[in-house]
Amino acid sequence: MSSAIILKTPAEMQIMREANQIVGSTLKMLAQRIAPGVSTKQLDRWAEDFAREQGSEPAFKGYRGFPGSLCVSLNEQVVHGIPSKKVIVKEGDIVSIDFGVKYKGFYGDSAVTLPVGELSPKVRKLLDVTRESLYKGIDKVRVGNRINDISIAVQQHVEANGFSVVRQFVGHGIGASLHEPPEIPNYRRSEQTPRLLAGMVIAIEPMVNLGKLDVKVLADGWTVVTKDRSPSAHFEHSVGVTEDGPVVLSEVA
Ligand code: MG
Ligand code: MG
Repeated sequence: MSSAIILKTPAEMQIMREANQIVGSTLKMLAQRIAPGVSTKQLDRWAEDFAREQGSEPAFKGYRGFPGSLCVSLNEQVVHGIPSKKVIVKEGDIVSIDFGVKYKGFYGDSAVTLPVGELSPKVRKLLDVTRESLYKGIDKVRVGNRINDISIAVQQHVEANGFSVVRQFVGHGIGASLHEPPEIPNYRRSEQTPRLLAGMVIAIEPMVNLGKLDVKVLADGWTVVTKDRSPSAHFEHSVGVTEDGPVVLSEVA
């Protein structure tokens, strides 16, 4: 990955909006269909079929060998869970679904954590705070701000509510590649971070643990879980930087 940040023209940003609208619509469709008894493999099929019907390709399938179109991560799983016929969603679960597509040469990337039925108040709050922290970060997407302004806003909201921010995985620039510079951490960096320029497109994606921040990768080589096995939530939007402020490309009306 080169260190240069690639700015997008307004026409390119429009294509990225279309790509991200496919992603957002897919996540919305999954939110309507998820229910106890559904396998994570079924969610993966629904997503891939839907995205292909819209003329896009699933972006994660085959990415560094990842076997699914979706990353589906339940409860103590943070990110990068592999869809499986054997994993059946049940009442009280939280299901983090991360999806990306390639469309007309550009990528879209967004994630949500969906509740299945009734959640405990603490887990409900974890989802609320994680989603809020994403929007606290988006609020800092202003030309002239630095990446750190986003990171600090996310971290402060999460920690003020007693939860912790994952350090090992971060957000990223996005464009004709799924992952481009710059990194978008969800915690304060001590070194100087890049300034936001009009034409940047960034994926902001807080991963928030109910317990401690430490995570590890399971033996399957992909699934990331909290070390203390506490629940974890993940919300992500792809956001365009413009002179008029943030444009949340993956937000579906
Ligand atoms: Mg993602
Ligand atoms: Mg991402």
